[in-house]
Amino acid sequence: MGSAETPVAGARVVVTGAAGFIGSHLAEAVGARGATVLGVDRRDPSSDANAAANLRELLGSSGFTYLRADLRRAALEPFLEGADVIFHLAARASVRESWGDNFEEYATANLCATQRVMEAAVRLRVPRVVVASSSSVYGRTDGTPSRETGPVLPASPYAVTKLAAEQLALAHAMRAGSVTTVIALRYFSVFGPRQRADMFIHRVLRAALDGQPMRLFGDGSRRRDFTYVSDVVAATVAAGAAPPRSQVLNVGTGHRTALSEVLAVAADLTGAPVPVVVDRGSDGDVRDTLADLTAVRAALGWEPEVDLAAGMSQQIAQLRKEFVPGAA
Ligand code: NAD
Repeated sequence: MGSAETPVAGARVVVTGAAGFIGSHLAEAVGARGATVLGVDRRDPSSDANAAANLRELLGSSGFTYLRADLRRAALEPFLEGADVIFHLAARASVRESWGDNFEEYATANLCATQRVMEAAVRLRVPRVVVASSSSVYGRTDGTPSRETGPVLPASPYAVTKLAAEQLALAHAMRAGSVTTVIALRYFSVFGPRQRADMFIHRVLRAALDGQPMRLFGDGSRRRDFTYVSDVVAATVAAGAAPPRSQVLNVGTGHRTALSEVLAVAADLTGAPVPVVVDRGSDGDVRDTLADLTAVRAALGWEPEVDLAAGMSQQIAQLRKEFVPGAA
């Protein structure tokens, strides 16, 4: 996994957002390393098919407990008490949907929930909280790799809430008497099996596999630093065990790929063209994202390992299993 440090077997770990895309992969990974994992999420897998699919490997596996709770309202201390690490991934994701009437949902799920988690974590003296932040906090850049100490110009309500949430978590860590340290990880466009259905690579691969056109926002020249989910999980696990120092770290690959290039890779891997309908650029979609990895390499000894084509192949295999039974 490209890092020397992992949570010890027997650690008690809480993963918020465990019924989600990245949270479910993370819960599987820390469980496989011998930690006891409490997965918290507001989704009910008995009525939410996507949550059930994400939790399939976890539910019933030894060492894993699922707690359905909304972090904005639930009493948090009973289940955070005794935690060695809290991985706080729960959030309302998606840039595009964060405009308009949804803002209150973004503000409460991303910011108010983080405030409650951090109040409890500091009071309970939980040593480490790892917070999922986002490359979207950088917003419009000059095209050079984004560094954690550089400017932030979030270009959507979602991005503003993610920046506020990471800074809020860090503020709690700086409180007098706090023993809690926070590592905020700015994830760059995560992809892989079980990726959210609103995300670009998922939509591209679905279109290639079922022949239904997808909406392409812009002309395909926008570029993203696409990061495979197992690499993101490895960085997150390493952050859980890193020395007690609060910091912000990028989790990307340091390479960027144009959306048109992703369409070409998808066509190549699936053997089918990707039908697209071009849409005007949507608000909040920035031109470029690109991570500078200097800080994360130094802090976690972490290196991304999975390239775009290899990761997309894994995602295609999962989608084929899910949507075309027997075809994978
Ligand atoms: P996801 O939507 O699949 O998972 C998020 C989970 O959080 C969901 O299952 C949701 O039910 C849960 N949740 C939201 N509000 C909650 C609340 N109030 N109480 C309890 N549970 C709640 O999203 P994801 O793509 O897995 O993203 C995980 C984290 O990583 C998020 O914080 C997101 O902002 C961040 N992130 C993701 C990406 C990416 O490319 N996927 C990039 C940057 C940052």
